[in-house]
Amino acid sequence: MADEELKQCPFCGEDIKASAIKCKHCGEFLNHQSQNEKDENELYNELCEAYYGTPQKTTVKNDNDGCLKTVWKTIVAIITIIIVLALLPVIGEIFMLLMLESGG
Ligand SMILES: [Zn+2]
Repeated sequence: MADEELKQCPFCGEDIKASAIKCKHCGEFLNHQSQNEKDENELYNELCEAYYGTPQKTTVKNDNDGCLKTVWKTIVAIITIIIVLALLPVIGEIFMLLMLESGG
């Protein structure tokens, strides 16, 4: 009885066997999440490789998170700059048209 390790189901919170693939309480597949995690880790590694030019496969998960944050910060910053630069002339033109219409 004691040698059967238990863990909590992430979906319903009920105690289930640590080796369980499917929760007997709510029927959710538990290896589905770890499958996603694995895919995400591969994505992290791909992003790290693209950003740093070297694969980060030997790093622990924390380092991967840090790497992903850095990559995303850079991507978000670049996208923000592009959007602002693309919209500036348009906003200026609309402003000019409004000024001309109200003035004339
Ligand atoms: Zn469950």
